[in-house]
Amino acid sequence: MSWDTVLGHDAVREKFATAVARERLASTFLFLGPAGIGKRTFALKLAQTLLCPRVQAFEPCGTCPSCRQVLAGEHPDFEYLCRPADRNQISLDQLIGDKSDRQGLCQKIAMKPFYGGRKVAILDDADDLRHEGANALLKTLEEPPPKSVIILIGTAEQRQLPTIRSRCQTVRFAPLDWPLVQRILIERELISPTDRAETLARCSGGSVQTAWHLFGDDVMEFRRQWLERLASTRVTGGDFVKALSSFVERAGKDAPPRRRRVIEVAHWAAELYRQAIAIHAYGGPTPAQQEYPDQELLQLAHACAQAWPATLDGLTLALDRCLLIETQAMANAHMQTLIESWLLDLNQAAQGRVPAYPSLATFSPLA
Ligand SMILES: [Zn+2]
Repeated sequence: MSWDTVLGHDAVREKFATAVARERLASTFLFLGPAGIGKRTFALKLAQTLLCPRVQAFEPCGTCPSCRQVLAGEHPDFEYLCRPADRNQISLDQLIGDKSDRQGLCQKIAMKPFYGGRKVAILDDADDLRHEGANALLKTLEEPPPKSVIILIGTAEQRQLPTIRSRCQTVRFAPLDWPLVQRILIERELISPTDRAETLARCSGGSVQTAWHLFGDDVMEFRRQWLERLASTRVTGGDFVKALSSFVERAGKDAPPRRRRVIEVAHWAAELYRQAIAIHAYGGPTPAQQEYPDQELLQLAHACAQAWPATLDGLTLALDRCLLIETQAMANAHMQTLIESWLLDLNQAAQGRVPAYPSLATFSPLA
């Protein structure tokens, strides 16, 4: 089990290899990048590499007890924690233990290494750390125990608390190239039949997770209708609010999957308007867009840039509005209200009814 199993991110691996070779590895890292591009896989392989006693040229042996224990989640010097599936945040107990004397991450990482080497901890879902959890972690991040390496994994920079960001070395992970997404979908048999892999990979934004979500029943069809509607000057109308609500509801009975779906839909919309802004600013398709994997979205962006009356102001406002959806959804805004107000605002922007200085401040997040 070598680094060959980690696809993409070669430059990041090289940086870690160099730091380890020079014995200048930092202790606290914050991995950032879109979901579904392999940050967790990378972190696990890094943990295996740092803990393997037979490591050679930054390659873990893959067969020693240490390597096997990391993969099985049973290594005494390795801790992994993530947000529990039924919670919307990392709990304080997970970090500092509970009253029954069970230990949390902060105590476990402070213990002497069982095998005498390093201790490694991965804290996944760092997006879901709240203030009290972050406060509990601060001392550990500020003065990491000797021989310890702590890796936090999150998505966007703005979703990390400043107190956490300032105490970690940020490592950025880029989306994967679409052919690599296609290869992963096929090789790992994530979809069947595999002839859809190319289309899904091209629309994935470089994320295997996004490609996988697009594979669901009717998702690609809804995405196409949604983007067509957003590129027109008539975003609302008919029963489109109902269609979007129903699509979001089909993600699951509970709030978290519905929230994730509305955020995903907002990402598609933001990407459309981002490309349309680039086309408008450049006066046509930009050189970078020649390589853009999703040509269908690009054509719609082009139509949008031409059709909207107050083009730049409208598109900027629409993009801001879509980016705000994530904050609103995460703040548990009422889903139906959120969808209705969002589409109404996009419709205003599409028809050129925009304020003189569009800005995020125009919209305050729903309580
Ligand atoms: Zn090993």
